Amino acid sequence: MTVSLIIQKYGGSSVASTDHIRRVAMKVASTKIQGNKVAVVVSAMGRQTDQLLNLAAEISNNPSGREQDALVATGEQVCAALLAITLESLGHKAMSLMGLQLPLITDNVHTKARIIEMQTERIEHILSEDIIPVVAGFQGVTESGCISTLGRGGSDTTAVALAASLNAGCCEIYTDVNGVYTADPNICPKARHIKIISYQEMLELAGLGAKVLHSRSVELAQKYQVPLVVKSSFGGDKNTWIVNEEEVMENSIIKGVTLEKDVSKISLIRVPDRPGIAHKILSPLADAAINVDMIIQNASIDGYTDFTFTIPTTDLDKAKTLIDEVAREIDAQKMLAANNIVKVSAVGIGIKTNPGVASRMFHSLSAENINIEMISTSEYRISCVIEEKYGELAVRAVHKAFGLDKDNKEKAET
Ligand code: ASP
Ligand code: MG
Repeated sequence: MTVSLIIQKYGGSSVASTDHIRRVAMKVASTKIQGNKVAVVVSAMGRQTDQLLNLAAEISNNPSGREQDALVATGEQVCAALLAITLESLGHKAMSLMGLQLPLITDNVHTKARIIEMQTERIEHILSEDIIPVVAGFQGVTESGCISTLGRGGSDTTAVALAASLNAGCCEIYTDVNGVYTADPNICPKARHIKIISYQEMLELAGLGAKVLHSRSVELAQKYQVPLVVKSSFGGDKNTWIVNEEEVMENSIIKGVTLEKDVSKISLIRVPDRPGIAHKILSPLADAAINVDMIIQNASIDGYTDFTFTIPTTDLDKAKTLIDEVAREIDAQKMLAANNIVKVSAVGIGIKTNPGVASRMFHSLSAENINIEMISTSEYRISCVIEEKYGELAVRAVHKAFGLDKDNKEKAET
């Protein structure tokens, strides 16, 4: 019998205290005792990353990315070492590994670096010696030897990258969330648990603020065909498998509804409408690694147009500074910025084959008297930007409109 390799990733809430870490160690040990090889990836304990960032904020409101990464990477280092110590205390051979020890090589975009290469020689050797590797998630090292991090929530991506490069049988993501739901149960009490979902749908949900998985981790899992399962670290059987589209049997048009709060918009008013304008406006943002999401350019009147786009609120200040400069350069009349907006999205593989999905969503919003400010659609999702105060109401309305409420589906679930 070939021994299969399982990658287990434990998120911050699963390792929040030494007691939690002890519980995790037992789970890891029992996976091993059952005859598997296991490698572990951990996040920082509890809210450690936030606490470290707060310390930096007490000193400076603009710490350099390089030092910020050096600071927050310690959170995962502490946790990996503590888990290795716990495993040793239980009589298992274990070894903690930092990103730079693997090494996991990234580009040099500090605070949201992307993986260039995961080297596996060292970890393969450790596994062959029957030692349990405990990898510090979220962190890597740049080609010039600086510590980097993969963006908030990035430990998931470390885990999937490891699973892909080691050709693991599966990647288990343990979290305090009880699997993946059709909507956030705190917002929508009628949300249902999803047992199986396609990579593509999960990618949309993850990208839209369903905070279960780091988007990049789902992208990687799809690219390298890593079977991914989200499990609760506190027991229970509410697992969610993330697999290929063809393997998802249940055929609902919409799989879930999300609310993204970290959204801001910037508008440039009365922009001279000529070739190259969109590029002029957006390229400084691309250079600063700011993700622009929705873009609307109004039809031009008298050679002028308005240009509006959305970005993550965390990048708003930086974007405002950049766009202010562009506005002067291209002679726009003025720049407006707002962060009192949210994005509500309906996600599902059925969108591309079912006409009328968008209109059903718009109807459900209008029935609640909610005004839609911006719209975007793709094969797998329809998103509407609306006023922040209507966000939660909108999620419930859309959830109901697509028959996702528990009442409608109770039979399917039990
Ligand atoms: N500790 C990091 C964060 O809080 C990475 C992670 O949890 O995946 O974002
Ligand atoms: Mg997470």
